[in-house]
Amino acid sequence: MPKPDLILLALEESSILYLMDRALRAVQYETAIARDVEALGKILKEATPSLLLIGEKFDGHEGLRIARELQGRFPTLPFLLYTEKLKPDLIRGLLQLGLSGYLAPPLKTDDIVEAVENCLRNAHRVGDWLRKEVKRTTASLQKRAQISEAERSRLETVFNNIHDSVMILNQDNVILLVNPAMCRAFGLNAQTVVGKPVLEIVTHPDVIALLTRTDTNDPFQYHEVSFPDGRVGNAQFTDIQGVGHALTMQDITYLKEVDRIRSEFVHTVSHDLRSPLTSVIGYSELVERVGPLNETQREFIGRIQDSIQHITSLINDLLDLGSIEAGRDTHREFVQVEGILRYTINMLDGQIKSKQLKVQTEIAPGLPALRANPIRLRQVFDNVVGNAIKYSPLDSEIQISIHAEENQVIFQVTDHGPGIPASDQPRIFDKFYRAANISSEVEGSGLGLAIVKNIVENHQGRIWVESTVGKGSSFFIVLPVNAEPAKTMRRL
Ligand code: ADP
Repeated sequence: MPKPDLILLALEESSILYLMDRALRAVQYETAIARDVEALGKILKEATPSLLLIGEKFDGHEGLRIARELQGRFPTLPFLLYTEKLKPDLIRGLLQLGLSGYLAPPLKTDDIVEAVENCLRNAHRVGDWLRKEVKRTTASLQKRAQISEAERSRLETVFNNIHDSVMILNQDNVILLVNPAMCRAFGLNAQTVVGKPVLEIVTHPDVIALLTRTDTNDPFQYHEVSFPDGRVGNAQFTDIQGVGHALTMQDITYLKEVDRIRSEFVHTVSHDLRSPLTSVIGYSELVERVGPLNETQREFIGRIQDSIQHITSLINDLLDLGSIEAGRDTHREFVQVEGILRYTINMLDGQIKSKQLKVQTEIAPGLPALRANPIRLRQVFDNVVGNAIKYSPLDSEIQISIHAEENQVIFQVTDHGPGIPASDQPRIFDKFYRAANISSEVEGSGLGLAIVKNIVENHQGRIWVESTVGKGSSFFIVLPVNAEPAKTMRRL
């Protein structure tokens, strides 16, 4: 048998209180009587009444005020208000509170029972609806929780099994997550490193160099990481909005190996080609000495010599590039850049004159001496000034300037040639790359700027271009005054 509903009566001592009590008990309700506010609070806390019937005045307080306060604490408890006299103000108060109903004299037993039953029926309906809603919401939350749990565990599996090393850091570079590949690469214990600053945990100098780089606003930075056992990683440090940063690293050992084999092959082939070419040139020069040549024969011999010269300079470029990339460019001495630049301009004077170019030079006085390899610096100036001449239209101007700023020397050469399309600009420093707007008739191998960039970076400097198609190009080279040879950092 279900437990009977408990009706809590909070009314002043009066005959009506007893009438209500009797009437309700007669129809099998349980009743509890609260004679003051304290008792009311106690019963509400200890028993679970199904309905509160409260007098308009109770224990010196407004019944409506008590009901308003209790509504906050017991939102599902239905209320009935008993009033001696129904006044408009009271009805407004009842409506504002959304109370379930009221009782007012003259009262008969049936009126009391009917009002209580109506009120309970409504409350049960609301209760059932609420229970159903709660069940529905709980089920949907459970489903969502299951989905997000499945999602989370799928992501965790991916994170733990990817071959690349991944570490997630917050804004202060404290480790939030680290995957097993990263732990293996640096010998870390995932359990103990989470929550610690990455710079305390990963002490590899290449990683420190990457994490502490301040010279770039590039949101995507990378650095090669060389391990003592010969492995090489390509590490990136990337901003992640709202989280912090990601440190990722791919194993590029096999790519480095392929690159080394390729370079060695190019080096060997170039080297082996040089000797036969020297003898071809030598014999082509001797031909004329052993007997007279007619005009056509002389022209053909001339063409052979031009072609051999072209191949020889290509081979020399390849051999140069190979030895700079292999880190063999370590010679350093104090060099006066001004002298080298003037030498380059003098050497190129023939080409300048033949294209009727005006070259304006602005060399700041008192330039500091650079610790550099003078032969390599000459190659840099020869290539960049040579390109400016080569790509300039006849009878145009070239500006060359060099000045010092805070322990570095800044060199700039500006021409008014065809310019370089924006999409080609990032690639012109790659080997064999020639921009799309240059006719194939213009001589060149696409190796010059690759050599220049390697030399500049080997001197711990930077090179970049600013260019507008149809207007011209400016190449900038910044070299530190006192730089040691850079660690080999071959770009793949
Ligand atoms: P190349 O032998 O083709 O001149 P470089 O490596 O010196 O090779 O230059 C690579 C490419 O960059 C060139 O083919 C050309 O497209 C572009 N370039 C270099 N310098 C200039 C310049 N001053 N004006 C326009 N384009 C240039």
